Amino acid sequence: MSGLVVIGASYAGVQACLTARDSGYAERITIVADEHSLPYQRPPLSKGFLLGLESKESLILRDGAFFEKKAIDLVLGTRALEIDKRSRKVLLGGGSELAFDKVVIATGSHARQLPIQGADLDGVCYLRSLHDAVDLKARLHDASEIVVIGGGFIGLEVAASATKLGKKVTVLESASRLLERAVSPLVSEFLLDTHVQHGADVLLEETAASIEGRHGRVAAVLCGNNRRIPADLVLIGVGGLPNDQLAKSVGLKCTNGIVVDDHGRTSDSNIFAAGDCTSHFNIFAQEWLRLESVQNAQDQAKAAGLAIAGDTGPYESVPRFWSDQYDAKLQIVGISRNFDTQAVRGSIEDGKFSVFYYRQKKLIAVDSVNRAGDQMAARRLIAGGISPSPEEVMDLSFDFKSLLKAADSASVAAQKSEPLERPV
Ligand code: FAD
Repeated sequence: MSGLVVIGASYAGVQACLTARDSGYAERITIVADEHSLPYQRPPLSKGFLLGLESKESLILRDGAFFEKKAIDLVLGTRALEIDKRSRKVLLGGGSELAFDKVVIATGSHARQLPIQGADLDGVCYLRSLHDAVDLKARLHDASEIVVIGGGFIGLEVAASATKLGKKVTVLESASRLLERAVSPLVSEFLLDTHVQHGADVLLEETAASIEGRHGRVAAVLCGNNRRIPADLVLIGVGGLPNDQLAKSVGLKCTNGIVVDDHGRTSDSNIFAAGDCTSHFNIFAQEWLRLESVQNAQDQAKAAGLAIAGDTGPYESVPRFWSDQYDAKLQIVGISRNFDTQAVRGSIEDGKFSVFYYRQKKLIAVDSVNRAGDQMAARRLIAGGISPSPEEVMDLSFDFKSLLKAADSASVAAQKSEPLERPV
């Protein structure tokens, strides 16, 4: 009996199964997970879980009974090794195989390894999975001096958690500012101040040249300028890479991830992909993107699930992301790269502000710190192609409500007027 085989059981994989089933896909659905635990939430791993505010159990996305009710077979602890297009079978670790009509590849991403001397010492960690988080949490408990290599989201969230736990934390970032690829200089500056105010040392334009050990355990990080920072725990967070090996081995087009159209379809019409492992042309950003966010994984998987069930509904979401560091709840909508104008709403000093970014007078992105209402409005404004003026944005008495009606009725199709290069 063939049906839908979904590889990877996290946000994208689970969402693709559910949408396909709820949209009328009546064939067998099997979801294959190489991890042993039930599908779980990844964002708290660097935040509430490390702080002891969330348990392993509270992270579970869906339990076994849920999958049973939806008639979805969940195969845990088993890796998909190969997709055989000719025989239409997915070959699994352990020697079994699953016949398929359609496949969804939702294999996510993995942590980029840092190839420096000493990176294999005991006490040098990466954070991607629940398994990693359990290990890191135990080590954090016993550690006192932590060096975080990389001032991206995961590095900064771990730094905030470790500082909150009373540890001495040093962050090394090779760029001239934090989160350089994701936020503007203004927000980078705010985050730098926040970390420093909470007692972390943040060294910008500083690289880790090697890691020193003693009796096989990490003892210090040597910086490019020969500075030596004592450490009994090192967390490396230098970005993620797509898990696209399976897709490449079956000849699917991959460029910084598995190339998909706005229905999650790959260069093979029976194989779909969604989430961190994919690259898509985003109509709002008007560029090819490989996003690592829960929103992207779920929305893209919905589009794939709909297409598999024979329904329509392309992926056309404005990219969104969030991060919690100390008391700062950072929310991002849109892609601010290459903005030419910015306007601040609220007070940076009070830690409650949003930065609205424009390119040629068009609102393209908004970063908010502790201003969730601005984010809600910004999502609808950007999706509707409506741009409040910078003066309106800066005026706290200006209510976006007057514009939101127009934003909601604006046709998304208008956004698509430019011909898009389709990957497949
Ligand atoms: P993943 O969650 O990576 O899941 C892919 C799954 O597929 C994994 O379980 C993997 O083991 C499995 N797999 C891979 N290959 C195979 C195979 N061959 N066979 C079987 N299974 C396989 N995003 C936000 O939006 N906000 C946040 O605050 C945030 N915080 C984060 C904090 C941390 C510590 C991490 C690691 C990520 C965070 N993210 C956050 C990113 C977010 O978690 C990811 O974007 C999201 O999990 C992507 O979902 P996915 O389903 O595409 O892939």
